[in-house]
Amino acid sequence: MVLCHWNGTIKYGPDGVYYEGLTPTKIRVRQKTALSTLLNGLYPIFGLDKQKSEFKIFGRYPVVVSPDLFTYLLLPVVNDTSLETMLEVPTNHPSIKDVELYLEVKSTSDDVAVPAACSSLFENPGTSSKRQRTQQPPEATEASANACLLKKGVNSSPLKPQIMSSLWVDDHELRVGLCFKDRYELKKVVDWCSFRGGQRCVVKEIKKDEYLFECIRWKCNWSLLAARMEDHGFVEITKCSGPHTCCSIEPDSFDVEFAADEIECLIRVQPTLTIAELKDWWFKKFGCKLETAKMQAAKKEAIRKTYGDWDQSFRLLPKLMAAFHSSNGLLVDWQYDSFPNSEFASFRGVFWAFSQSIKGFPHCRPLIIVDTKDLDGKYPMKLMIAQGVDADDYFFPLAFAITQKASTNSWRWFFTQIREKVTQRKDICLISSPHRDIVAVVNEPGSLWQEPWY
Ligand SMILES: [Zn+2]
Repeated sequence: MVLCHWNGTIKYGPDGVYYEGLTPTKIRVRQKTALSTLLNGLYPIFGLDKQKSEFKIFGRYPVVVSPDLFTYLLLPVVNDTSLETMLEVPTNHPSIKDVELYLEVKSTSDDVAVPAACSSLFENPGTSSKRQRTQQPPEATEASANACLLKKGVNSSPLKPQIMSSLWVDDHELRVGLCFKDRYELKKVVDWCSFRGGQRCVVKEIKKDEYLFECIRWKCNWSLLAARMEDHGFVEITKCSGPHTCCSIEPDSFDVEFAADEIECLIRVQPTLTIAELKDWWFKKFGCKLETAKMQAAKKEAIRKTYGDWDQSFRLLPKLMAAFHSSNGLLVDWQYDSFPNSEFASFRGVFWAFSQSIKGFPHCRPLIIVDTKDLDGKYPMKLMIAQGVDADDYFFPLAFAITQKASTNSWRWFFTQIREKVTQRKDICLISSPHRDIVAVVNEPGSLWQEPWY
């Protein structure tokens, strides 16, 4: 059960955040519900027009202080992950029966908050007051409670700090009191905010663990101070001066690194997105175009961050094949060129056939078709493919090999592997291109394939 509070005010008391307002509306939401599904369901419940208004959702998230004692943080629900985090609260804390969400409604038609909404949710809590490192988390005033929203002094919290700061990226407002795992997380958020505003900032460490962000433009008034706080160990924004008094820079001049950070979450879910699709997404999100070359570099970097680089992937290949072998009976044969030092060897080729293919082949037509395909990318290699044909005349994948190049040696190896390990009968017809390497191998004395090649 989810309690939806609205038409009231978010307040802070000794137990953290709470809501003052009318009786909440109860709705049922399944775990793993997508945020978009929830939002679509909320509009009719609250009698709002989706075209004219927009929900901002905050969750009342419990952090265990001691057994049966919680303090509550305000968690912005901005994506499926943060919604899932909230919907899992009753599962993770059986003493809490309901998920509590606070809804803020904003009108999108004229950019004015709907009167009923608590539009003053996050008034800036005294931006000029510098916080002392030793200051205890104050709970007496709303403003200072605001400032400790993201403190994660309790290690048992299942929320990872980087998740929190990535949420704040989506929330895109920098406020005194926000906490980040480290200076790099904060830098990412500051870069993101700068990008939105068409500005650019630099960071320097002015004392140990104290960071000053400044606008790169001459005499601009904007700056931000942050420091690692002793009481919770996170980097907290302590002062925020502004706004920018400079003119905005063309957004296109931003780093590939920044773009890579932005598209990383997309690439993680859908690594096959094309550059054109990514550029479309970018345009919708930021309202400006990113050059193809920059997007290509950003995608490459995002893939490297998600999956590791080429060398790492290549090193994983033997492990992957061994896992297929032990779990699925995959037939594997490696070929290496040896080095003078026997500890090292250079990859020449790998042959594989699935046990299911080997078992299925006796039921196929007595025919094998072989072909090759060029593999592009970092390592230009050849994929050798052998297929059968089943009774329905569909292709039946039989065996594969990746080799540095197609030569008489590699064809001899490929054909011998198929003959000895994959096929179990004589009188098989072979169809291939009339390439001289293939013809040469088939005609070799002792070849298991003999003209007329069956
Ligand atoms: Zn500026």
